[in-house]
Amino acid sequence: MASTRRALVIGTGTGGLASAAFLAKDGFDVLALDADAEIGGYLAPFSKDGFVFDQGLHYVGACRPGQLVHELLQSLGVDASELFHELDPDGFDLYRFPDLDVQVCRPLAAYRERLGVLFPEESKGLRHFFGLLDGAARMHDALARGILGRPVLTDLVALTGVPALLQWSQRPLRELIEQSTSDERLRAVLAGQSGAWALPPSRVVGLAALLYMAHFSDGAFFPRGGGGGLRDALVRAAEAKGAHFRTRALVERIETERGRVTGVVLAGGERIEADIVVSAVDPALTLGRLVSASDLPTSLRRKAAVIEPSMATFQIWLGLRRDLRTYGLGAQNVWLYPSYDVEEGFSARFTGKLPPRPMLFLSPTSIKDPSGTLAPEGSSSLVVLTYVPHARFRKWQSLPEAERGPAYAAYRDEIAAWMLKELDARYPGLVGDVVVQAYGTPLTAADRTRAAAGAPFGPAMTLSQWGPKGFRTRTPVTGLYLAGSGVFGGGVAPCLLSGLAASFMAKLAPK
Ligand SMILES: Cc1cc2nc3c(=O)[nH]c(=O)nc-3n(C[C@H](O)[C@H](O)[C@H](O)COP(=O)(O)OP(=O)(O)OC[C@H]3O[C@@H](n4cnc5c(N)ncnc54)[C@H](O)[C@@H]3O)c2cc1C
Repeated sequence: MASTRRALVIGTGTGGLASAAFLAKDGFDVLALDADAEIGGYLAPFSKDGFVFDQGLHYVGACRPGQLVHELLQSLGVDASELFHELDPDGFDLYRFPDLDVQVCRPLAAYRERLGVLFPEESKGLRHFFGLLDGAARMHDALARGILGRPVLTDLVALTGVPALLQWSQRPLRELIEQSTSDERLRAVLAGQSGAWALPPSRVVGLAALLYMAHFSDGAFFPRGGGGGLRDALVRAAEAKGAHFRTRALVERIETERGRVTGVVLAGGERIEADIVVSAVDPALTLGRLVSASDLPTSLRRKAAVIEPSMATFQIWLGLRRDLRTYGLGAQNVWLYPSYDVEEGFSARFTGKLPPRPMLFLSPTSIKDPSGTLAPEGSSSLVVLTYVPHARFRKWQSLPEAERGPAYAAYRDEIAAWMLKELDARYPGLVGDVVVQAYGTPLTAADRTRAAAGAPFGPAMTLSQWGPKGFRTRTPVTGLYLAGSGVFGGGVAPCLLSGLAASFMAKLAPK
């Protein structure tokens, strides 16, 4: 009888958890290791004075039966219909511009119709843009069914749209938007979701952005209990299939022999043997530090050394003594834009300076979560987020939080005050109801996941890094695979998929 192969998973973010669960399902003896004291990476919540805050989850698409996230979870024994709760179907995203509010609704046809009413002069441009977005939605669903091994005949229709879509794998979203309309307000609306992939329209690959938007074409969902709810469901699924977890286990080296993985070495020197290693951490770390240079072609090491990370965030977690519905907030994300220049919301990354007013993303997590566990009765939890330059924080990154000193605290507080001033201007009185607050700088994110520059979504989805130019599940080392947001992109769906792909490839590895 063939002996069970031992698989190690490095990192227990969404991609690592999915890898552990799929590998265990596929019969591997699985041990997942995480450097942190908590399992979950960006899914791990933290608590403060009765409030539970999410660090990296605000909405997920494709959660209905037959759709990608639902079916991936279902195949692991997780009932996604039970786990996920739908956000407001009439406006799961609300864009607030200076004199225009737009609610992004489902399905896509209804949203297109809504924009048609708001911009009656722009029907030609909307037809162009939504034609492509519709094609991307069909491609997204056909890909999902293909991956799940359940293609249907009508998926062939999706193929007809592929050539038109593919040209946008070589051009940025901004070009597509400018080609569609010259109306500055509609341009801003079409770029309104840019924070969801942490790159401005001028930098993100058009097709990547279309696929992310398409992911929400049939609505958006939030897990009961927030990111922690999804994390726990994945851990339970993996454990039910026999996987084990170990925290405070920092992997320092991936060992090989004659081009084949043999195990890992932890900080402190402990060696753990394995037939398969799935590394679900930043590829810059896996390929730049954990694997010996002699095991990789120079080109791949160079590629890992120059990764441009997705843009770092600054988060403020607020606990409020009031139900946020009294301020008009609902089960939706709110994007506050100070002008119609969406690019400006990301400009700090490139100029190093904060623009006069921030673009803010608001996620009232306790309203989105029907479990009632994120905030005490009658209170609310709110995440407020913007994009800031990681470079300005670099000088403190090698120090532990407690030793970053007064200059770090002063810069952190300056950003927080800049954000709270804008929040107070948009929702007068809200800041006065705050009873608990915590700040998350790009270094807080890097401390949490060890992602370079505190990247929220893995490598930036730019023309030189996305799709065929990105990283693969397979590596040149036999038995070593990559998972997590460095493979198919950031987000729950791509990370779940990365776990499926890693397990699939591991099964094919020569014994
Ligand atoms: C602010 C923010 C908002 C987001 N919003 C959404 C959203 O609304 N919807 C959505 O789908 N996605 C969202 N995301 C993205 C999503 O959370 C991530 O893409 C995904 O969770 C990342 O999973 P990952 O597998 O790449 O691992 P990560 O979460 O990056 O975790 C990596 C893990 O590896 C561990 N690790 C690192 N190095 C080592 C080592 N050497 N040894 C052992 N362990 C190690 C870390 O401790 C960590 O636990 C958001 C992210 C952020 C930050």
